[in-house]
Amino acid sequence: MSSRAVVLLSGGLDSMLAIRVLQEQGLEVEAINFQTIFTCCKNTAAQAAHELGVPLTVIGQEDDYIELVRRPKYGYGKGANPCVDCRIYMFQQAAQVAEQLGAEVIASGEVLGQRPMSQKRRDLEIIARESGLEGRLLRPLSALLLPPTEVEQRGLVDRSRLFGFHGRNRKHLISLAQSYGFKSIPSPSSGCALTETTFAPKVYDLIQLDAESGRWDFELLNIGRHIRIDEATKAIVGRREEENIALQQRFTQPGSRASLMLVPESFRGPTVMIIGPLADEIESYADGLVARYSKDVDLTDARVYKHTPGKTTLESIAPHEQAVELCTL
Ligand code: SF4
Repeated sequence: MSSRAVVLLSGGLDSMLAIRVLQEQGLEVEAINFQTIFTCCKNTAAQAAHELGVPLTVIGQEDDYIELVRRPKYGYGKGANPCVDCRIYMFQQAAQVAEQLGAEVIASGEVLGQRPMSQKRRDLEIIARESGLEGRLLRPLSALLLPPTEVEQRGLVDRSRLFGFHGRNRKHLISLAQSYGFKSIPSPSSGCALTETTFAPKVYDLIQLDAESGRWDFELLNIGRHIRIDEATKAIVGRREEENIALQQRFTQPGSRASLMLVPESFRGPTVMIIGPLADEIESYADGLVARYSKDVDLTDARVYKHTPGKTTLESIAPHEQAVELCTL
């Protein structure tokens, strides 16, 4: 009977190749895709799994992942990406799935030296050790540059048919993919908002200024324009219709910490959400943001629905003129 392997699959080239390398050795592979509130591309992983002919299990994060983003033991990359801690978390989850499936091999498409944050030799060692997989975590694409794992020593995987890829150059990986007949070569992308330097300020703002923030707040980072009004208060402005709707849905969601939401009555303008203590001046700022981001509207008679928890009123707006100077994160 063939050995079973659990392999992390992002849908990118490296993880697809790692699966294919093990399939070539006759291993029965189960792919695992890890989704967080900051990742996209579930379909990419599903398509990749389909192309490779492997079953796919999608696993999500629990609330403890937020704590990891808030206080990563191994720090952040260029954005707000705690990649080393995140990989440890992923492999801990993968190890549980492997145990349930009776899979002896746990593998990933990591390439030594390819990513500055999580694929240096020391990082790979830390990730294996801290996820409880020291000596067991197989990286088929760089295995020849790393100490043999248990599964290689036991002969479950033939080390001589693994690879010694290193660094950022994808030429050899692409050649290997072509030799396997891959229909298309995925372009390099993390698919994770945390790596984006434009997204990072919103994350750091939340971590540094809002100790009470939780999953609801972090999920909101993916929606709208975030504006810091003062240390205790921030506004979120919908940038298009689907974001306006998403903000309105989240206003009443369990865990919601919104104190005010403005929705234009009958003109094209943004939904504005306020998180933080309410005061007349804050309401006036919220009105000002509606005015600032409404296009081609005569605001003299404009009215908005003002929702506070448990109460809705219909009011004219009284924009705070300094709203235009507020800082977008
Ligand atoms: S890019 Fe995002 S999902 Fe990937 S390891 Fe880093 S933090 Fe985790």
